[in-house]
Amino acid sequence: MTQPIFMVGARGAGKTTVGSELAKVLGYKFVDTDLHLLRTSGLSVADIVEREGWEGFRRRETETLKAICSPLTVIATGGGVVLAQENRDFMREAGTVIYLRSPASTLANRLEDAPLEDQRPTLTGKPITEEMTEVLNEREALYQQAAHHVVDGTQDPADVVNAIMDALALPMAR
Ligand code: ADP
Ligand code: MG
Repeated sequence: MTQPIFMVGARGAGKTTVGSELAKVLGYKFVDTDLHLLRTSGLSVADIVEREGWEGFRRRETETLKAICSPLTVIATGGGVVLAQENRDFMREAGTVIYLRSPASTLANRLEDAPLEDQRPTLTGKPITEEMTEVLNEREALYQQAAHHVVDGTQDPADVVNAIMDALALPMAR
């Protein structure tokens, strides 16, 4: 299997952490859509949202997803990538999609512990646990829809990587 692997999940799900470990284990390249956007445009997600709104950011995100899609690559996407049907369809067609699933409380704890690693602006301005609960309510079904494999993201990163390796060895679930 050489097709790209897309990591999806909310902020704090471990897409960057687990995705880069997975790439090492597989000998794949690792690309982060937000980082790619920053490198190619010179703008952070926060900059783009400030100038162009979330709508402008979403449009650039779809372009980026297509631009960085290549074989032998693990792609860490942004948390909201699944909002667009176009993105969900594209990822499912082009590669294997892994949903890193964790409850809102876990995501909120991680984001509180490492606020600087996450440079994305808050979506609602609400306390982080509330925001993550709302985000998951809105997106859980979309993450599930997009994913070929749903993996428990609450385990240690190395165990999450092992769970993904097991899932990848199975015939495609759907
Ligand atoms: P994402 O890219 O999905 O937003 P990150 O990989 O940046 O998430 O992880 C967010 C924070 O949570 C980081 O501080 C990271 O070290 C931590 N983290 C990620 N995955 C795990 C995990 N499986 N167990 C414990 N901490 C984790
Ligand atoms: Mg990330």
